[in-house]
Formats: sequence, C-alpha cells, structure tokens
Amino acid sequence: MQAIEIKGLKKTYGGKYEALKGVDLSVASGDFFALLGPNGAGKSTLIGILSSLVIKSAGSCRIMGVDIDKDVARAKSYLGLVPQEFNLNIFEPPMQILVNQAGYYGISPAIAKKRAERYLSDLQILDKAETPTRMLSGGMKRRLMIARALIHEPAILILDEPTAGVDIELRKLIWNFLIERNKAGTTIILTTHYLEEAEYLCRNIAIIDQGTIIAHTQMRKLLSRLDQQTYVVETVKPVKKAPVIKGFATVLKDEHTLEITVKNHQPMNSVFTALTARKIAIRNIREKTNRLEQLFLELTAKDNGQ
Ligand code: ADP
Repeated sequence: MQAIEIKGLKKTYGGKYEALKGVDLSVASGDFFALLGPNGAGKSTLIGILSSLVIKSAGSCRIMGVDIDKDVARAKSYLGLVPQEFNLNIFEPPMQILVNQAGYYGISPAIAKKRAERYLSDLQILDKAETPTRMLSGGMKRRLMIARALIHEPAILILDEPTAGVDIELRKLIWNFLIERNKAGTTIILTTHYLEEAEYLCRNIAIIDQGTIIAHTQMRKLLSRLDQQTYVVETVKPVKKAPVIKGFATVLKDEHTLEITVKNHQPMNSVFTALTARKIAIRNIREKTNRLEQLFLELTAKDNGQ
C-alpha cells in the first residue's frame, strides 16, 4: 500500500513562478521518508498541497489511496501535519489545545486527555500541560505541535523542517520520539535541508531541487554515492609543495593550505601519520564541502551525463 502517491504535480504561483514542475513521488505505508532539498526547492509547497493548504495547478495526489480531489476530508483525516511556522493559540495551555484539536476529529475529551498526557510525557513537556502556551520556549512549542498532529492518531505524520532552530539535545529527543512512532506503525515524512537528519532517521529519500525531483531512492544507496570527501588542512608552518601520500590525492592551495581527498574506505589515520612523518603540523581540518553540497554535485553531474 502506498501511503502517498503523487503524479505530475505542478504548482505555479502568481500565474508565472513554477515552484513544482511535474513531481512524481510515492511513499510506502510504514516508511520513514525524507524530502530533502535546499531552501526554495519546493518542499513546503508540496506538503502544503498534500495537506490542502495550497491549491495545486496540475497533477494528482492520493493519500492512503484516497484522491484529494475526490474526498479531501477523508484524505486529510489520514494526515497529521507539523508545519514549519508556529500556528498555536498562544493563549491556551497545551492540554486545552490538544483536547480542542481532538474535538475536530470527534474524539471525546476523556480519550483526548489520555492521549495528550502520553504524548506530552513522551515529549517531556507534560509539566507544561496547564501553562499558557505563550510562556513555552520555541522547542516546547515545536513539541506541542508534534503532539497536536498525532492526537487523532493519523496513519501518516508529515513534519516540515521539524528541527529547524532546535538545539542538538532536543533534536535527539524529537528524533527518538519519531523513531518510536514509526516503529509503532506511523508512516513518517519529513522535509529537511540537513542531510544528517535524513541520514539518521530515514530509510528512503527524495531530493528536490528547483521544483524537480532529482533523486528518489533508498537512503543507503544514495549515501554510497558519496564515496569520497575532500578535506581542507590548514598547516601551522608554511608548506612548499604538496606532500605525496600514497593512495591519497593532495593539492597545495597556498603555503598554509592543503586539500586532501580521502575515499570512504580509507582510514584517515594514514593521512595523519604521513603528515606527521613529514613534520607537517595541522592547525585545523575541515570538510571542503558539506555532504549535502557534495551529494548535489554528484547528482547534478550525473544528470548532465558527466
Ligand atoms: P522550500 O520549502 O523547499 O524552502 P517552498 O515550497 O517554500 O520551498 O518554495 C518554493 C518556491 O516557491 C520558492 O522560490 C518560494 O519563494 C516560492 N513560493 C513559496 N510560496 C509562495 C507564495 N505564496 N507565493 C509566491 N511564491 C511562493
């Protein structure tokens, strides 16, 4: 069963700007799926269309087999959405927000309260259940939005940039919570522009760039394309020429900067040992491009037939 099936999806804003240029995408039921892409790629537009917040220009979307053009209410009932922007009633406390939300789906306050307590507890904000939401931190509000999206126990949870602006500790808490939900059977789809987030959580991935899907595959397969990484090594003392290190490509960029390319299976230790043997002390080392940029380079090079 496909949780999501999108065909030929297009969105043109203001009659001219094409934010989605004919997207085909499917997500299997039970999957943990990432829609990855840089800012402005069209991720929020795609999610907006699925959740009926944005009107599509062309194409079709099925949610758990239900076409959004034929029965939008039923299609929507399968979805829980965590938007990027906070859209909470800040004057109500979390428990009230959750009970109200459940009411839209015909869930009784007694059941809603029980579920709310469980989610707020798992997300570690149960102690804020009766605090006015305006007094919650950004990270707490984000968690409350996750609980709200789950209150009707949807088959699919969609999160738009769930950890944007969230610190590392909280990011891990949210990640682990999502992993548990997925294990319990919820299909999870998230958008992100952090490759690390997609890598940590997701089994399958689509990469979108300028309104077009440029890759749609298993996470594991995609990452195997990243078979090498170039490091920029800053040296303490000036270096006259690039050291020759067997098996590694080295380039001298300037007298304090070396670029060294390492294949995935090669241990970095060999580089350090070789530099130490040549009395080259390292002040700093960093990746030349981040891995997402690298992945884009790889993908677009392939698309151009290079
Ligand atoms: P992402 O979520 O990947 O950052 P978006 O879907 O928000 O991308 O945006 C895709 C493109 O559509 C961007 O160029 C953005 O400026 C444009 N866009 C988004 N919403 C609107 C809108 N309401 N009106 C006009 N252009 C929009």
